[in-house]
Amino acid sequence: MTPATAGASAPRLAEPGDFAKPKLRHLLWRAVRLRCPHCGGKKIFATVFELKDQCPTCGMQLERGEQDYFVGAYLFNLIAVELILFFVVCGFVFVTWPDPPWDLITYTTAALMLSGCVFCYPFAKTTWLAVDLAIRPLAEEELHRPATSQK
Ligand SMILES: [Zn+2]
Repeated sequence: MTPATAGASAPRLAEPGDFAKPKLRHLLWRAVRLRCPHCGGKKIFATVFELKDQCPTCGMQLERGEQDYFVGAYLFNLIAVELILFFVVCGFVFVTWPDPPWDLITYTTAALMLSGCVFCYPFAKTTWLAVDLAIRPLAEEELHRPATSQK
């Protein structure tokens, strides 16, 4: 029995030759589900806002060896929150036109902006990682298997 057929719930481990450039839509689909964009492995977050050093499934370094790696995630988070605010405010003004409640819109927008930053941040991190993997594919030296998977 090979590790791939060991069980349906067993995580898929990336093999050393598994460095074909994945399609962006596959990377993004894994990212929006808060999974490792490279392998689709779960539980890549140490806390709600902090990624583990390595993917527990494939061993990829999640910060890709750069200290200020997640500046791009901040940008993605800002863009996501601004888009949410734009569509919510425009929709609310459209629905309540010609007499929109501007005070309610102001306070709701402020609350949405703060909660949106917190809610979107984990998704921004994984999405940024996915886009970075599409632009700069994984190099073999970035893939370190976790100690628990080496027998
Ligand atoms: Zn992985």
